[in-house]
Amino acid sequence: MRHDIVIIGGGSAGYAAARSGRDAGANVAIVDQGPLGGLCILRGCMPTKTILRSSDIMALMRRAAEFGLRPVEVHADMAAIMARKEELISGFAEYRIEQLHDPYFTLYQEQAIFLSPHTVQVGAKIIEADQFIVATGSVAQHIAIPGIDAVGYITSDEALQLQQSPKSMLVLGGGAVATELAQFFQRTGTQVTLIQRSQHILSEGDEDLARPVEAHFREEGMQVFTNTQLHQFTVEGSQKIAHFTHDEEQKSARAEVVLQALGRRPNVDGLDLNAAGVQVERGRVLVNAEMRTNQPHIFAVGDVNGIHEIVHIAIQQGEVAGHNAAYPGRPPHRMDDRLKAQVVFTDPQVANVGLSEKECQQQGMPYLVASYPFDDHGKSLTLGEIHGHVKLLCEPRTGKILGGHIVGPEAGELVHELVAVMYFHGTVRDLAQIPHYHPTLAEIITYPAEELAEQIG
Ligand SMILES: Cc1cc2nc3c(=O)[nH]c(=O)nc-3n(C[C@H](O)[C@H](O)[C@H](O)COP(=O)(O)OP(=O)(O)OC[C@H]3O[C@@H](n4cnc5c(N)ncnc54)[C@H](O)[C@@H]3O)c2cc1C
Repeated sequence: MRHDIVIIGGGSAGYAAARSGRDAGANVAIVDQGPLGGLCILRGCMPTKTILRSSDIMALMRRAAEFGLRPVEVHADMAAIMARKEELISGFAEYRIEQLHDPYFTLYQEQAIFLSPHTVQVGAKIIEADQFIVATGSVAQHIAIPGIDAVGYITSDEALQLQQSPKSMLVLGGGAVATELAQFFQRTGTQVTLIQRSQHILSEGDEDLARPVEAHFREEGMQVFTNTQLHQFTVEGSQKIAHFTHDEEQKSARAEVVLQALGRRPNVDGLDLNAAGVQVERGRVLVNAEMRTNQPHIFAVGDVNGIHEIVHIAIQQGEVAGHNAAYPGRPPHRMDDRLKAQVVFTDPQVANVGLSEKECQQQGMPYLVASYPFDDHGKSLTLGEIHGHVKLLCEPRTGKILGGHIVGPEAGELVHELVAVMYFHGTVRDLAQIPHYHPTLAEIITYPAEELAEQIG
């Protein structure tokens, strides 16, 4: 059996690559061992955002009196929250499965194993191809902390299946998955303790964006420990105990459930990339901006290359690889990181596009910065959503926007104005001059833009 392009993995990245290959007229096969649907739909973005809607509404209901409403007592029904999530997810998955059965693709529902740089074993079949695109995603990373395996823990996969609210939970980690789930469980009735190694949560970004989220977590009753080092886990009856150093003091915290959200690693298990001659470094398949590995006819896209674990970037990478695989003789498409964006769906949300201050400093890039707080913005005050701020970075001479960062209400929606202006290489002057309706949350962006516009040139 022979195809022009064989894509291993039919998640967000693999499906995007398949569509691009198909649109270019290539003979495309997708190999996916299942379950079909991909991480985003089955166990990632969509289930988490569905359940967060329930905890967000619950948090608002608790604030009824603040808005002149008679308070009601609100309780989470975890089984019902999860049932709503299951129903939505099965609809999204059904649609993706239909797309994978596109008559223009050949779909093999088997595991793929490389036998050589041009052949894979797929079940009992041996398949050859001119080009391969590896899109096998990621898996939760195992962390070797003494005692953790013996006391037992869950990952986000199991957290999304719980049918009852645990009484208490230790959340290990401070990234997007850890913080979103920590707040979900805290708001729905679990006493959460979050333990994070770095100085602040969301440690890849700037500290000023993380602190309002940490402060709000604490206001809601969560215990948050940052700057820690985990040493050991022990068990006492039904309680799992984490022993750690916090600000140089020995501490411990206990709970019924441990949620290990310390990160994911590229899934290269069982692929035998060695047989294909593909280089892997610290578990990641190395690629260039064309998404090619060291074997120019083998590409790697999405979580498996470990560059960003973000869906729209996985899709862009898939499209770049699909195009380059289908048109080997044409000028290649390349990934452009300038507009890399991320949203964390906590309350307040955190959204970023482009460079952070940390990145500008690391790259020695001069920048101007200005911020404006939501607690001084009319529309935020009317909504009672006053946590956080907007921060803009621009080139000192031209005013070209280098990065936009929002921690606050609807940050994930608001950031798209910054993405659009940056896409067109816009400046802080553009942002300040674009008309903004009053009163809206989006107006807040014009304030730091005006401040910067006065400083440039
Ligand atoms: C809890 C959670 C929440 C998240 N929330 C967000 C969010 O809000 N926004 C966001 O942008 N990102 C989010 N992410 C990240 C996002 O889900 C991933 O970045 C994205 O889904 C990765 O897509 P992918 O195509 O690389 O991998 P996947 O979708 O995992 O696809 C990999 C596919 O490969 C198949 N496969 C694996 N090995 C083989 C093999 N050897 N042979 C055949 N098939 C194989 C698998 O069956 C699977 O279908 C979240 C992740 C988690 C865990």
